Amino acid sequence: VPRATPSRYATPAEALHTVFGYDAFRGNQAAAIDQLVAGGDAVVLMPTGGGKSLIYQIPALVRPGTGLVVSPLIALMHDQVDALTANGVRAAYLNSTQAPAERAAVERAYLSGELDLIYVAPERLSSPATRGLLQRGTLSVIAIDEAHCVSQWGHDFRPDYLLLGDLGEQFPGVPRVALTATATAATHREITERLKLPAAEHFVASFDRPNIQYRIEPKVEPRKQLLAFIRSQPERSAGIVYALSRKSVEQTAEYLRTQGIDALPYHAGLEAGMRARHQARFLREDGVVMVATIAFGMGIDKPDVRFVAHIDLPKSVEGYYQETGRAGRDGEPSVAWMAYGLGDVVQQRRMIDQSPGDRTYKLRLGQHLDAMLALCETVGCRRQNLLGYFGQDSGPCGNCDTCLEAPETWDGLVPSQKLLSTIVRLQRERGQAFGAGHLVDILRGASTDRIREQGHDRLTTYGLGADLSDQDWRSVIRQLLARGILVPQGEYATLALGEPAGAVLRGEAPVPLRRDVLGRGGASAGGSR
Ligand code: ADP
Ligand code: ZN
Repeated sequence: VPRATPSRYATPAEALHTVFGYDAFRGNQAAAIDQLVAGGDAVVLMPTGGGKSLIYQIPALVRPGTGLVVSPLIALMHDQVDALTANGVRAAYLNSTQAPAERAAVERAYLSGELDLIYVAPERLSSPATRGLLQRGTLSVIAIDEAHCVSQWGHDFRPDYLLLGDLGEQFPGVPRVALTATATAATHREITERLKLPAAEHFVASFDRPNIQYRIEPKVEPRKQLLAFIRSQPERSAGIVYALSRKSVEQTAEYLRTQGIDALPYHAGLEAGMRARHQARFLREDGVVMVATIAFGMGIDKPDVRFVAHIDLPKSVEGYYQETGRAGRDGEPSVAWMAYGLGDVVQQRRMIDQSPGDRTYKLRLGQHLDAMLALCETVGCRRQNLLGYFGQDSGPCGNCDTCLEAPETWDGLVPSQKLLSTIVRLQRERGQAFGAGHLVDILRGASTDRIREQGHDRLTTYGLGADLSDQDWRSVIRQLLARGILVPQGEYATLALGEPAGAVLRGEAPVPLRRDVLGRGGASAGGSR
């Protein structure tokens, strides 16, 4: 007869001190834990390093039964279970890497009430056998980690997550918690809906990482810029350099080594033993710079990473935030540095065009890229832009490159008015709306089939913007989008006027635009325009 694992600690505080050796809870850890211990559901949005794990580990130790943790990262599962076991917590996992005998032992332990926590990969939970097993025992709490994987529009979608919505029906009375470090309003809504958590209490932490200084510069000579950046950091600082391709990882690591920096490459194509050695050196020694693809870093718990550098543009602000968030987990001053260029944009647009998804999907990827570029091109505070993306208001931080040194700007009022009035005319006179590409064609006086068919060469603004390049116009549009002067509408992301547009059209609001953006003033990658 299966029996439930007895409660091991009377209170969360007792478990915190005894098992984990910490003095106090952080931020809203305590509130979220209390909600679960009392049997309620929760949705937790907390940045990487914020301490999400304790939020389900502690209720699992306080409530009778076994805590179920759904986690998509098998490597991470391993590490968490090892760490818990070392602290005297009885934890185990079920995943596809296991031998049958090992799996059977875990199942027996669960059913005889000897497990505090059981970690399961989402695809195992799609199997009726696993569900049946879990139903025969007793669960204390259900945690769905990396819950943003349920979001079809997010950057990490996993179909198996869609099946997790019915856990509530299957395990009535077991409190559930969904946790993620992604906090856009859209993802938040999707998590709540798809995981069926209508009655959950929401715990949203601040996403600000005040000890991280954000710096972004246009690519001119990326290697030299990277080297200069690393040399500007305190001697023997540990850091991570992210590059997009394996080849670029290897070449960059090699280059840094020739310059006397203790750099090591890390990507999925390297032999496993070498990867493990490089990771171990990075974790244990001072001053190792890991040059890696984004495969590296998930679940790496090194608190004193002093900088994260990107030599290629991340695909989304979520990705950028997660990767840069690996810096300064100890709270000490750290830097997130990035160089981006026109080549990155061209390459990523091509990848989006060639990706297998449907039109809406590609459009969404394009919007992710535009939001990333808007962060690069902002004249305002980087942190304010970043937090705004995650739906959190803040003032200028005083500790990012644009706050420390105001970027050079040019007066974008007249081009903005040309663009906005084109949109207004098309809307008023013809009831039409268009995306960026066609609007730029009109302004630049292009002679495309669509322009001739629609008679758009007869518009008064046709050809009025030929003084700016295609890239210039794209940058103007991104910056106007980022400020809400333009807003994307509908399935095809056609452009419409936002609330501040009226003041721009009347010439009452200045529109300073960044000079050092792609395609402008000598800052373009390789001078291509
Ligand atoms: P997340 O999953 O949100 O990225 P973790 O749960 O891995 O974060 O926690 C990050 C680090 O903070 C870990 O080293 C963890 O042990 C530590 N930590 C979490 N909560 C506390 C606390 N209340 N006091 C001290 N350290 C904590
Ligand atoms: Zn700032």
